[in-house]
Formats: sequence, C-alpha cells, structure tokens
Amino acid sequence: MIERRVLLAAVASLFGLAAFRWLRASPARATEKFEVEKTDAEWRAQLTSQQYEILRNQGTERPWSSPLLNEHRKGVFACAGCDHPLFASETKFESGTGWPSFYQPLENAVGTTEDSTFGMVRTEVHCHRCGGHLGHVFDDGPKPTGLRYCMDGFALVFHPAPPSAS
Ligand SMILES: [Zn+2]
Repeated sequence: MIERRVLLAAVASLFGLAAFRWLRASPARATEKFEVEKTDAEWRAQLTSQQYEILRNQGTERPWSSPLLNEHRKGVFACAGCDHPLFASETKFESGTGWPSFYQPLENAVGTTEDSTFGMVRTEVHCHRCGGHLGHVFDDGPKPTGLRYCMDGFALVFHPAPPSAS
C-alpha cells in the first residue's frame, strides 16, 4: 500500500513538473504583472490586426515589410501598444535582416523571457510597461553592446525629435 502511494506521488510530481515546464514556456504576460494591462477585447479594439498579432500573440511581421526600416530621423521608437519609449534613434543600425534593429534599449524599456518555440531557444523581448511582444534579442550585434535587438516594426511607433533638437 505504501509503495503504491509513493508511486502515485512520484507520478503526480512528474505531471507537476511537466505542467511547470509548460507554464514556463508560455508567454511572459501569463505570469508577469504590467503597469498597463487591458483585456483581450480592449487590445483588439485599440490595435490594428497586424499590431495585435505581433504584440499580443507573439507574431512576427514579414521581413522588409515595416516602413520603420527606413526611418533615419532623430527621435524615439515607442511601443505601439502603450507608447512607452523603447529605443533611441542613435542605437538603430542596419542589420540587413529586414527587421528594424537596435543595439541597446532605453533604460527600463524592455523585459526578456526565454522563448523555446519552433525548436529554438531564443530570448524574447517585450515592452516593460504593457508586456507587448516586440521581437527577440541576439548576441551578434555591433559594438558597444554586441547585442542585436531584432524588432517587429509594426510593434513600434516613431516619434521624431522636435526640429529644434540638434
Ligand atoms: Zn507597451
């Protein structure tokens, strides 16, 4: 009888472990709390379907599809979900990947989680304020950080610096 109970406990803990693994692989927003939180219906009403697919559903835009690829003015790239400032134009670089790329986010701009979808282990990047998915970060970027923040342009909005700023 005791052995049987031990066996059951062992089986239960195995299931528990599997559930824990599964939870960890799920998107950050499932467990993390964010300053800006909205219901799914509110996000759908606010965002375009493409923005929703990326920000709220971990989607990825087609490469070379974002108009922000060719945005070279001075300014700030902010979250398309909550307008939180994410990247300064000075940290944008041409990665040749077809996605807007930056070597460094602004302070307290983004959070990261481990993403093991599609059989790859990648570092997922999301907005620190609303949890919206932005893209991934890789370690093959340029100096000074060596990082490449590979962002979905449709998850971003660009705010040009005032003309007076030099
Ligand atoms: Zn946001």
